[in-house]
Amino acid sequence: MIIKSKKLIPIITLFMILILPSVAIAGKHVVVIDPAHGGSDRGVKLSMSLYEKDVTLTIAKLVKENLSGVQDITLKLTRSDDTNVSPATRKKIAGEAGADLFVSIHVNAGFGLDAKGYEIYYTVADMPSAEKSNSGEILKDMNQTERLNSSVIFAQIIRENMEKIFPREGRGLRNAPVFVLQSMTTPGVLLETGFATNLENKKKLKDKEVEKAIANAISESIKKYFSTGGK
Ligand SMILES: [Zn+2]
Repeated sequence: MIIKSKKLIPIITLFMILILPSVAIAGKHVVVIDPAHGGSDRGVKLSMSLYEKDVTLTIAKLVKENLSGVQDITLKLTRSDDTNVSPATRKKIAGEAGADLFVSIHVNAGFGLDAKGYEIYYTVADMPSAEKSNSGEILKDMNQTERLNSSVIFAQIIRENMEKIFPREGRGLRNAPVFVLQSMTTPGVLLETGFATNLENKKKLKDKEVEKAIANAISESIKKYFSTGGK
């Protein structure tokens, strides 16, 4: 589940995110993987002992393992244990890492017991400015357009790979206000892997082999993104 917010991020926070120094190493692609929820924020329930926070962490750790040997990719997790990290802190981690790509992992729920499949949300641009009166504003818009394009390209790659695990269950690429993606300076997507409220999906998400397959899908998507022109 995700927090959808239409509220504008306070200007001061936005300012802080924009001026955060980029510490990316030249020639290295920095990817931040965000296992959603954690600690007391358990997310949706899959069983008495398994929650969304566990599934997202398992997948994120597998992605890290998969990409640990890839020379030009540095991978960072927003959490590597069962702790509660605020969405604002997750964004801050991505900013401070100088992330080139941000991937938030979730498990979906709701919309009735029949709703199943994966959803991919991509970065929404900030609210459009009423007047583009100075070059700073225009430049900011150009950066946002570039970021949005990159996010959509990555979302399309990840859709191709998720389709292999959940055939014909794609619920589309969605441009919706998602707090963790809003006002980011990094291209990013939020992946809803499947529905905990659908029996078929739940069974898959509890299966270690499927969790591995999802992690592989994310890892392969990241590699493809950077090898096909992603910056
Ligand atoms: Zn969630």
